Amino acid sequence: MKSLRSQLLVSHILPLVILLPLLGLILLYVIETQVLLAGLTEDLARQATFLAELAAEQQDIFVNRDEGESFARETGAQSQRYVSLYGADGNEWVVVVEDDAPDAAEPSATELEALKVGRVQTRAVLSVDLAQTTAEAFAPVLNAQQRLIGIVRVTEHIDRVNARLTQIRLLILGSTLGALVLAVGLGTYLARRTSQWLERVTYAIGGLAHGEPISEATERMPIEFRAAFDAVGDLQTRLRESEETRKRLLANLVHELGRPLGALQAAIHALQQGADREPALREELLQGMDGQVERLKPLLDNLASLHGGLSSALTLHRAPTDLNTWLPQILVGWREAAEQKHLAWVEEIQPNLPPVNMDANRMAQVIGNLLSNAIKYTPEGSGKIRVLAERRDNEILIAIHDTGVGISQQDMEQIFDPFYRGQNARFPQGMGLGLAIAREIVDAHGGRLCAVSELGTGSRFEVFLGL
Ligand code: ADP
Repeated sequence: MKSLRSQLLVSHILPLVILLPLLGLILLYVIETQVLLAGLTEDLARQATFLAELAAEQQDIFVNRDEGESFARETGAQSQRYVSLYGADGNEWVVVVEDDAPDAAEPSATELEALKVGRVQTRAVLSVDLAQTTAEAFAPVLNAQQRLIGIVRVTEHIDRVNARLTQIRLLILGSTLGALVLAVGLGTYLARRTSQWLERVTYAIGGLAHGEPISEATERMPIEFRAAFDAVGDLQTRLRESEETRKRLLANLVHELGRPLGALQAAIHALQQGADREPALREELLQGMDGQVERLKPLLDNLASLHGGLSSALTLHRAPTDLNTWLPQILVGWREAAEQKHLAWVEEIQPNLPPVNMDANRMAQVIGNLLSNAIKYTPEGSGKIRVLAERRDNEILIAIHDTGVGISQQDMEQIFDPFYRGQNARFPQGMGLGLAIAREIVDAHGGRLCAVSELGTGSRFEVFLGL
């Protein structure tokens, strides 16, 4: 009983094996007593009435015992039932005794009263043993003045209708057995099918663990298994995605760390080979090294944010911030970077902006990521960066425009995914993290980060923050 199949089989079949025969027996008893017996008493009443009418024409049978007896015998033989006669006082007049005749029972006082007014009486004497169950009918024999002159009693054992009963019993037995066989067959089939589906789901999950794709047609499956398959499919997709993300992260990291490390190593070699003896060269090399380390900082910031964001909800340290003082401060460094690349720089900050309740450091990271992209993806010497801040109804909009390479429609759908780098990102370095983190921070502030871009024309990134 260890396998699920045998347990299912038993749970399907056991109740049926117990219930069906029980139901069959109950049905048999009900049919025999309620249906057959009722029919039998009706039949007996009809016959007794007929015999009473016959007896009314031969009133001598209540005077002459022999005539009475032959009447009872003849009519009993014709109808194949037991016929007895009673006097008008209800006392036994003629009872034809045969071996298997049921016990004679006189009409009770109440029955006698009813008979006197011409009403036929029927009774069924029920017994758990069907062979002892009898049905009988008393019919009054009335003279021309409608006075009771005698009573005709017709009796029958219920097992005299045994032939009919046997037929019904066989029918019920047969259908019970048939239902049992059908139920066992169906139960076996269902148990087998359920365990087969389970085996297939298990097999598919096993295959998944070895990196195989799911190749199952799920349309004909029971919905529970289909749901399991779908869940496994989702799991597989997520595993594949996270595997791809991991690969992209590693590739980007190697790329991002490789460049500054290479530059640092080259500078160290130069110093080892005597460059430190020339003060001007040494100073230049050290500054270069410092610059490389400085450039690694935003990368580490983004990686740290990513780690924080993924492992727990982003915690913000909000404070009301005056944008008119805060924004120009953080733009200084980026303005220099843009000017170094010979890009035009425009700042349009609406005066008297209301204070915004925000985490200023996090928001500086957002603006930094957007501006570093704008500068990075705008070709040297011929472009323009424009920073705009203004109030829009109940929101503050900070927008960063560039006239750079732009983003294709296809890339647009994914640029906010972690580690995703667009087609246009082949040459300048990056981790594909800046936008994902920027959006996460803006979302945590209850704001929105949107992008509009056209390939070859430029891009606009908009941060909306609620007031
Ligand atoms: P990264 O810049 O490190 O690749 P981001 O998450 O900052 O990563 O940006 C994702 C992608 O979006 C970039 O690879 C680039 O293709 C595109 N992108 C972002 N900002 C701009 C922009 N201002 N102009 C053109 N493309 C951009």
